[in-house]
Amino acid sequence: MVLKDSVAIVTGSGRGIGRAIALELAAAGVKVVVNYAGRSNKAEETLALIKETGGIGLVVQADVSQAADVDRLLKTTLEHFGKIDILVNNAGITRDSLLLRMKEADWDSVMATNLKGTYLCTKAVSKGMLKQRSGVIVNISSVVGLSGNAGQANYAAAKAGLIGFTKSIAKEFASRGIRVNAVAPGYIFTDMTETLPEGTQNEVLRGIPLGRIGNPGDVAKVVRFLVSPEASYITGQTLCVDGGMEM
Ligand code: NAP
Repeated sequence: MVLKDSVAIVTGSGRGIGRAIALELAAAGVKVVVNYAGRSNKAEETLALIKETGGIGLVVQADVSQAADVDRLLKTTLEHFGKIDILVNNAGITRDSLLLRMKEADWDSVMATNLKGTYLCTKAVSKGMLKQRSGVIVNISSVVGLSGNAGQANYAAAKAGLIGFTKSIAKEFASRGIRVNAVAPGYIFTDMTETLPEGTQNEVLRGIPLGRIGNPGDVAKVVRFLVSPEASYITGQTLCVDGGMEM
């Protein structure tokens, strides 16, 4: 329980990987702000799961791509818990298509949620973290940001952008005791991936040396490690959690 009484915001934690991260942190004693965009029932489910195991949490709706929403997320968190120790920038969307067919709106929305959302949330929490001279930030990137992927130019560009952002902010904040890292998941079973046709899933599976598709808990455990004092000498890194897919 080394993280006991820390306060975390996990963006996009109503479902999928974000929910697993919220539960993992709550189980370690962290007070967790469960953020979501539109599906309030899913976010309330995450909160109920946190409470079932004796954890403490709070649900806050906020579109991370909107500065006013992010301000409200920050204010509500501070009103309830008084500080922010951990930020996990997890909220993300895909709008896949080959470049020639990619609509400008699909480029813009993926950039807005995946990249601008991380900028806005990080900037919002950084003031308090710099003042308290401590804090940990984890950005959820993707192996696609390292390798590229046909049909995902917008998503890959945003996820690669997150890696550059992570390194830059890690350098800016290191002297103030704030660590910033990225996690790059491979193929993880969530709503985001369940719509892929079975043929594509089998093809992906052939490219995973460990021979299985990941689950949200695989990513959540690594995030818990990165935000813990056990990772106190790690900053600016991108850790792949991908069954060996990217090596
Ligand atoms: P998911 O199941 O689709 O869940 C996405 C979550 O993000 C939901 O809680 C959603 O809220 C929230 N969200 C979306 N847009 C938002 C916005 N503008 N503001 C606030 N919240 C927003 O996705 P996932 O598979 O768990 O993915 C989580 C992260 O991991 C993403 O960044 C994704 O790119 C990354 N990732 C996933 C995989 C994978 O294989 N699944 C692989 C690599 C990286 P609502 O529930 O309200 O819609």
